[in-house]
Amino acid sequence: MKIKIEDIPSQGLHKEMSYDPRELDMEIENHPYSLPVKFSTPITAIADIMLYDKELVVEVVVRYKLKMVCSRCLEEFEVGFEKRFIFNYNTRGIEVIDITPDIREEIILCYPQKPLCKPDCKGLCSGCGVNLNVERCRCKRENQEVENGQS
Ligand SMILES: [Zn+2]
Ligand SMILES: [Zn+2]
Repeated sequence: MKIKIEDIPSQGLHKEMSYDPRELDMEIENHPYSLPVKFSTPITAIADIMLYDKELVVEVVVRYKLKMVCSRCLEEFEVGFEKRFIFNYNTRGIEVIDITPDIREEIILCYPQKPLCKPDCKGLCSGCGVNLNVERCRCKRENQEVENGQS
């Protein structure tokens, strides 16, 4: 979103935009050290822009949906986000300010470090590997069968 300083009226400017996260290179592919992050919607940004003397203040509300992989059970899940950012710029000697790189960076900083499909996700059993949200652990049962077989 590019803002031309001379276009801002004294009562401020309202601007809306939609971004394609792929064009902004914001998705994370499968990687050994990070879980993938994909967008299931474009990013919508609604900006209220005010100019106070030489200071530009931009209040942006962004909305988007992420498709992530749960860090405990490794299932893919989707979650919607709404975030509000405030950016300040000094406009001295500047005619146009592009706020897109700042929006991009703030959204990336908001990616959850340890995404969870739900707060109480039970994860995978370290023994038998079942998803404990949907199945019962098989470890105990397998051990019992072995013991019974030996006696
Ligand atoms: Zn989970
Ligand atoms: Zn188990």
